[in-house]
Amino acid sequence: METVNRVLGNEEKISPASGMLPVMEHFYTLQGEGYHQGKAAYFIRLGGCDVGCVWCDVKDSWDGGKHPLRSVEELVKIVSATPARLVVITGGEPLMHDLTELTTRLKNEGLTTNIETSGAHPVSGKWDWICLSPKKFKAPLPEILPLAHELKVVVFNKSDFKWAEDYAGRVSPTCKLYLQPEWDKAAQMTPLIIEYIKNNPRWELSLQIHKYININ
Ligand code: SF4
Repeated sequence: METVNRVLGNEEKISPASGMLPVMEHFYTLQGEGYHQGKAAYFIRLGGCDVGCVWCDVKDSWDGGKHPLRSVEELVKIVSATPARLVVITGGEPLMHDLTELTTRLKNEGLTTNIETSGAHPVSGKWDWICLSPKKFKAPLPEILPLAHELKVVVFNKSDFKWAEDYAGRVSPTCKLYLQPEWDKAAQMTPLIIEYIKNNPRWELSLQIHKYININ
């Protein structure tokens, strides 16, 4: 796996205090979506998001100030005390924060670092896997497109297929492509996604299996 090591635009990051991050929740579970679906992963959900998706299922994450600050040291200690080998940093929009220290420390512990991001803020951190999930409400920055290992488009209505193709043409040729039905529209959109993938087989289906099997 290629390691991405980029630190960009730190001046635009939210930095509550050096080495501290607002954490909405953290838990050890299985990754439910995309390329790494089914793998054991420690999730760290950071507070703060300014993207504003109307269908967001974690609106509580938006106000970063609502969530307790935790030190990077404490987070690394918590993860290291579990059998987890893979850590997924999500949000909220995790790239609102400078993730250099957190990811450096996690990697120093031998952990694999994955991120799930809308790409709307500059990339920071050392990543083994970048899952880019672009949103119509705030476009990703162009710099993240060639770095994405996985493009995951949430399909909310029919026009999203065309929008997904636009992004597929802008990521690297090796980027994995996923279409994922928006949870509340899954009954309507999943059959359309299945037909679309049959006609366009470079795309794959991503389901939020953690919701079907009722785990975090
Ligand atoms: S980017 Fe994620 S956390 Fe932010 S509003 Fe959209 S779905 Fe919610």
